[in-house]
Amino acid sequence: MPIPGQLDPVPVPRDITPRADGRVDLLGLPRPRIAELFASAGLDTKQARLRAKQVFHWLYHRGVTDFEPMTDIAKTMRPWLGERFVIGRPEVIEAQHSTDGTRKWLLRTADDHDFEMVFIPDADRGTLCVSSQVGCTLNCRFCHTGTMRLVRNLTPGEIVGQVMLARDALGEWPKGRMDLPDDESEAEYTADGRLLTNIVMMGMGEPLYNFDNVRDALKLVMDGDGLALSKRRITLSTSGVVPMMERCGQEIGVNLAVSLHAVTKEVRDEIVPINKKFGIEQLLQACADYPGASNARRITFEYVMLKDKNDTDADAHELVRLLKHYKLPAKVNLIPFNPWPGAPYECSTPERVKRFSDLIFEAGISAPVRTPRGRDIDAACGQLKTAAEKKSRAELERLYAEKEAALR
Ligand code: SAH
Ligand code: SF4
Repeated sequence: MPIPGQLDPVPVPRDITPRADGRVDLLGLPRPRIAELFASAGLDTKQARLRAKQVFHWLYHRGVTDFEPMTDIAKTMRPWLGERFVIGRPEVIEAQHSTDGTRKWLLRTADDHDFEMVFIPDADRGTLCVSSQVGCTLNCRFCHTGTMRLVRNLTPGEIVGQVMLARDALGEWPKGRMDLPDDESEAEYTADGRLLTNIVMMGMGEPLYNFDNVRDALKLVMDGDGLALSKRRITLSTSGVVPMMERCGQEIGVNLAVSLHAVTKEVRDEIVPINKKFGIEQLLQACADYPGASNARRITFEYVMLKDKNDTDADAHELVRLLKHYKLPAKVNLIPFNPWPGAPYECSTPERVKRFSDLIFEAGISAPVRTPRGRDIDAACGQLKTAAEKKSRAELERLYAEKEAALR
């Protein structure tokens, strides 16, 4: 008889990570859950609900990390809260700056697992690349994160905590006092002029294999009383976890990016092995059915340019044919392959990438080439990897076989 839990490759974390001092971390919990905790600590229901609303606002709108500055909560109540609860952040182990302005942070969970987040500033926007897992369940052959085992899923608090940390680091919390609204102008509360404007779930891990936590975290990011980022400014990238795509559209509603990377079964099976489980046709049908996709909100198809692997004219033509066949509101993002030590591929030549892009543009589909960012600090797509022990080819093959067996 199978033992429950043994078959699921993804460990399920608890909604509250217990802390050594017994206090409960409120970061990442939905407002009703905070109210429940306040009630079980002794407040009556009405009080608990009111305090939860106030604390939520301080947490996500003001970015405070303890209870003392919460000026609309009675002075005596603040230490009472502080004895029972904390407002956590992932610990920052290292912060690096690229010459192109990209920043990468090495972060650590309370139980000592390392993961990374990256901030990419542009002239008109700033994008935070957020991780969803420590390591990855999958093993795309061109991706450094894929050479790691899945250590564990990140909790909602650890996911939303990345956005909070980025705001801390960029100094982007409103400064005024909430109880003195006349003291400050509306402008201090608007998103205009902010550095952090967009979020992409494109860090370490496969977000749709950590669906509940990613959904709960993104709901906090989108909550109008909190971080209040529009769903139009959030993009979730999946390697093609077909059974979760519809729920992603329905329950999260963010923009979708799909790591397509190849147009034939043979090549995609090799470089994105989840293709053996959910094939190209199934994947593209799920894209065609994605709730909320339209010409105004196109699906992004990511395509990593690998020399002599997926970069011929025939590949470009087949890509166009497929996107048209499924009538997909699509744009294609061509990503020059970012190398990492021991990677089995090379990047296509710039001429090849240009030609590939031109062929797709000529068919009426936008296909810009993404400029690699932060390569000097290993912050570019697919370079994220912590606990950097180097594995031999044989060790890697064993790991990949294990991961694929777990998916079957
Ligand atoms: N796991 C999710 C999201 C994270 S990866 C996914 O696979 O979609 C973000 C993007 O970077 C994906 O499209 C991924 O395929 C791509 N990528 C991975 N390794 C890369 C590399 N070495 N060079 C360029 N892009 C890479
Ligand atoms: Fe995981 Fe995405 Fe890397 Fe594939 S590309 S191994 S799904 S992080």
